[in-house]
Amino acid sequence: MEPIATEMRKIEETLDPADWDMLRDVARRVVDDAVDYTRDVRKRPLWQNMPPAARARFRTPAPQDGRPLSAVYDDLVKNMLPYPMGNIHPRFWMWYMGSSNFTGALGDFLAAILGSNLGGGDHAAAEIDKQVVNWLKEMIGYPATASGNLVSGGSMANLIGLTVARNQMSGIDLRELGVGALKAPLRFYGSDQIHSCHQIAVEAMGLGNRALRRVPSDEACRMDVAALRGAIAKDRVAGLKPACVIATAGTVNTGAIDDLEAIADLCADEGLWLHVDGCIGALLAIAPGGKALVRGIARADSIALDPHKWLHAPFEVGCALVRDARAHHGSFALTPAYLENAPRGIASGEWLHDFGLQTSRGFRALKVWMALEEHGVAKFGRLIDQDLAHARYLAERIAATPDLRLLAPVTINIVCFRYDPGGLSELELKRLNTEIMVRMQETGVAAVSDTTVRGSHCLRAAIANHRTTRTELDVLIDHVTAHGKALLAAPVLDGP
Ligand SMILES: *Cc1c(COP(=O)(O)O)cnc(C)c1O
Repeated sequence: MEPIATEMRKIEETLDPADWDMLRDVARRVVDDAVDYTRDVRKRPLWQNMPPAARARFRTPAPQDGRPLSAVYDDLVKNMLPYPMGNIHPRFWMWYMGSSNFTGALGDFLAAILGSNLGGGDHAAAEIDKQVVNWLKEMIGYPATASGNLVSGGSMANLIGLTVARNQMSGIDLRELGVGALKAPLRFYGSDQIHSCHQIAVEAMGLGNRALRRVPSDEACRMDVAALRGAIAKDRVAGLKPACVIATAGTVNTGAIDDLEAIADLCADEGLWLHVDGCIGALLAIAPGGKALVRGIARADSIALDPHKWLHAPFEVGCALVRDARAHHGSFALTPAYLENAPRGIASGEWLHDFGLQTSRGFRALKVWMALEEHGVAKFGRLIDQDLAHARYLAERIAATPDLRLLAPVTINIVCFRYDPGGLSELELKRLNTEIMVRMQETGVAAVSDTTVRGSHCLRAAIANHRTTRTELDVLIDHVTAHGKALLAAPVLDGP
């Protein structure tokens, strides 16, 4: 026996430290630095280009041998922390993101410490996962009997809703037979402002991009409901099978909200599935000032929403909700022999993986749960109203500033505008505004993105940021106009 025990001592290893006090010291440093980093975010440039040395650090081969954790952390302090994307900064308004929150970060840390797998089972993390889904249903007025699944983000949440829609509307056992057995090609409808993830979804679902009809939008960038009705009728005549309308509550381009009540009525008339992409706007339902904008959202058969946007959860967390829990479960449930339920114990709980595509699932609920417990739903609602007020303020400042023009109506918190001193061609305006955008990023001052609305290129500020104040928006106005003036006098615009 003796020689085996000696041999075991030699080869048994663990990832736990030999010295727990060393670990405590490094962990304390990480937490202390993290608090300072968050507190001092205003003092740092929003973004800075990574110097070649920092970049090179992350292009080395995998280390075969380790080194002390404190050295690993020092490396990150030097080469990573100064070079973030910038979206926790008060002047970040690109694309559409939340601005994170420290409590959520603690949630991610604790979730990882616990290490639980949210594929399902009977344990506390599974209870919290289900509670967060129930809270999100409650927050948007969705029935308690609906099902839901926390996923990586809005794109996955939309894919889940659309997959259930496809399966339910196919009229065949689609899981068994596949799309090749469809009696008539399915058609989905969204406005021409629909998010790109829906095209990826219909492609991944085997329906092809053509299955997604882009219905024209009106002057306010909302889906033209009469055109929608016409497109459905035309497809029926052509022998296609209209299946699902995707209404957007808050388009990514301009924040437009489709007429949810009218579209729900139409879906009821036509016997179509209504999916609402509420990645931006569903949570308006908790904002006293904003909630009227999404009246009717709870009539949807499925909804995608995104706590990593207007609940400011650290990435990633989205949520798919489906009114008919059986249809949802029926689209994804599968129990192989190695995942059978046990009468008691860890495997006796519900299988949460039966409501989506993942088997192993992270404990992404905790960061949402902790922030909601700490601040309450009402505060998140007020913060959404604050973003709406900030967008109106920015729009007023733009309207009152010579050489700045608003390019789209401001419905929620997205403001499309450009520097336009008059007399420039569309191409020149695009070059000018792109250069303004890039210079503001390169100087670390402010981050807006750009888009094209009805043929006009513009800058776009999406204010989903609990750190933004009016002063920050004044800085944006000042810098756009200053860069615009300076660039007009400079030859840089004479490029190719
Ligand atoms: C952000 C967004 C998505 C995609 O969500 P992700 O969380 O980025 O995957 C889908 N639809 C709309 C309207 C969005 O704004």
